[in-house]
Parts: sequence; structure tokens; C-alpha cells
Amino acid sequence: METLTSVRRPRTCRACGKKFEYPVKGSEATRHHCENCVDVPDETRKALERLSTRVTQLENQIKILQAKATATG
Ligand SMILES: [Zn+2]
Repeated sequence: METLTSVRRPRTCRACGKKFEYPVKGSEATRHHCENCVDVPDETRKALERLSTRVTQLENQIKILQAKATATG
């Protein structure tokens, strides 16, 4: 038995990186943006999304560098 309509998966906001649940009754959140960022003007949100993507990339690079540093001692 699958109840697909009521499945709530944790989502990550594209703009601020916050983890949120979607869909939530009474919440304005969309598939890609949390409640807080839904109200942000489009242009500003695009800038936030770019920065958020960049931060994610940098975080991944740090992880790789850390792994390398650990491996080589
Ligand atoms: Zn957000």
C-alpha cells in the first residue's frame, strides 16, 4: 500500500539551503523554496540561488581537500 499523495520528503531550499518539508498544509513553501524565500522577489532569489550553489560547490571542494589531507597525513 502506497500513499503517494501524503508522502512528505525533506527538501532543501534552493535559495537559503534550509531543510524543509513539502507539502505542508498552510505553508506557502514550494517544491524548491522554503516558506521564507517564497516571498523574496524573483531577482533577489536568483542571486541567492547562485550564491547557494557556489557555497555548495565550495563545501564539496573543502570535503575533497580534507579527505586528501587526511589520506596523506
Ligand atoms: Zn529558503
